[in-house]
Amino acid sequence: MSTKGQNESSPKRSLSYPAPVERLLTELTRLPGIGRRSAERLAFHVLRGDKQAAEKLAHAITDVKSAIGHCSICSNLTEHDPCPICESEKRDRSKILVVEQPRDLIAIEQTAMYQGLYHVLLGRISPLDGIGPEHITARDLLQRIDNPKRNAGGVPIQEVILGMNPTVEGDGTALYLTSQLESRNVRITRLARGLPSGWSMELASKAILADAIEGRQQVRE
Ligand SMILES: [Zn+2]
Repeated sequence: MSTKGQNESSPKRSLSYPAPVERLLTELTRLPGIGRRSAERLAFHVLRGDKQAAEKLAHAITDVKSAIGHCSICSNLTEHDPCPICESEKRDRSKILVVEQPRDLIAIEQTAMYQGLYHVLLGRISPLDGIGPEHITARDLLQRIDNPKRNAGGVPIQEVILGMNPTVEGDGTALYLTSQLESRNVRITRLARGLPSGWSMELASKAILADAIEGRQQVRE
């Protein structure tokens, strides 16, 4: 009886893909936003393409892990440590614009309106997702303020501009940082908010971002 049962289920198993394809599908579905269907589409695209294209993709993935790291000063993604922004002597090293992700930094850099340095949090506080201050680079930021040697060129930080996205989590992160910065001798400002809640810095136009930087408001002297 039990043998019959096994025989019935085995044709089902033979319908699965060959092991290497299944391995690729398993890895692809680990990526954010990729379900089984999308993974199959990507895998079949790779299978249809030539070997060279597949190798290029594989190399791009391994290279990004071996060649790219985080700046030891600002945590931005970089090929060289410190990153070119921290390294530049033309930037105002006494100002730090705090952003959530490297993509926010890129959006602001594209406006060419900001000449200070950055601090990339690599996330935001989100208690519902179990993400606390210890999971972002908040402590590095505070140490950078407390110990100028940890800032680019050893320059003491005078102004911290909070540039989190105006979402519930972004606001919560700004609130936390403000509470931590209050006892420190720095000017705290926030990017101006002429925009509805929930907009992302990544999608804002250059003009809007430039206005937000220019019109930044003081949180505390
Ligand atoms: Zn840097």
